[in-house]
Amino acid sequence: MTWEERWHPLREEWIIIAAHRQNRPWIGEMLENTEDKIPEYIEDCYLCPRNTRVSGKTNPDYEQIFVFDNDHPNASFDAPKAETPKAEIYRSKPAYGISRVVCYSPRHNLTLTELKVEEIVNLLKTWGEQYKDLGSLDEIKHVLIFENKGEAVGVSNPHPHCQIYANNFVFKTIENEARSSQEHFESTGKILFQEIIEAEIEDGKRILAENENAIAFLPYFARYAYEVYVAPKKTHQSIADLDESELLGFAKVLKTVLIKYDNLWQMAFPYVMVLHQAPTDDGDYSAFHFHIEFHPPLRKPNLLKYLAGPEIGGGNFLSDTSPEEKAKELQRLSEIHYKQTV
Ligand SMILES: [Zn+2]
Repeated sequence: MTWEERWHPLREEWIIIAAHRQNRPWIGEMLENTEDKIPEYIEDCYLCPRNTRVSGKTNPDYEQIFVFDNDHPNASFDAPKAETPKAEIYRSKPAYGISRVVCYSPRHNLTLTELKVEEIVNLLKTWGEQYKDLGSLDEIKHVLIFENKGEAVGVSNPHPHCQIYANNFVFKTIENEARSSQEHFESTGKILFQEIIEAEIEDGKRILAENENAIAFLPYFARYAYEVYVAPKKTHQSIADLDESELLGFAKVLKTVLIKYDNLWQMAFPYVMVLHQAPTDDGDYSAFHFHIEFHPPLRKPNLLKYLAGPEIGGGNFLSDTSPEEKAKELQRLSEIHYKQTV
């Protein structure tokens, strides 16, 4: 039973691990599996091929990946000029930027988990191209690529897709991580994330998948019960810098994690998945180590991790589960997807 505080070196904050309280493993029945009833194509899905979106634009009859500008962008170069606030301590600026949507597949009822490894490699390449293209624009300081999956995180359309937010500021998590990584490098001459990978390999208790080029683990300082990091072993500032064999190794490890997630409760496992890539302003990010973080909102099939007093109010996480125990649960699971017959 773990009851202690653990330091999160990338975020530079404490996580309270309070897993000593009664928290029996989930042994209830499976959720009703409705996934099989979802058809391959839905007429009123705005992401399915050939359908017309709210903007009046029609999706092409795409066969693999389809990228388009979001019809409801959070930022746009058409955004209005910002009003100057009266108080000197307040600031504003126009919401300039670009928002895009990336459909992983024309098939409405697929998930990232079910894509073939080669298809995942293609998707990783698309993410790299988008990061480069958008990041090369002067006004764009950061490209955030993320997928919200499942109703537990407010997504009602299962069509497999992610979003890209290219903005004129750097998102806070990445700004912190870039700073902590750079400061660590300046004071020790070492890459912070490399040291995390070394520590995880040395300890070995929280590793879920590993090959020559990539690794996946629940970090020692995990905030969510089933939080997983997927990283290339070499330091790269973004996914655009991985070579062909690194992409393949990364895709394999990523797929293993996704399959284990689905196998956990035999359901399409909900998560927030975020690519951590260096900002695209003019800073020095040589110590930034690209990786993907999964933040699953569920602790059990019908039990959300509620963000409350400590998290929303205080800004630090309180976890009721120990990363070692949760890693053990995931390690035990098969690497073959539960829906795959044979
Ligand atoms: Zn669809």
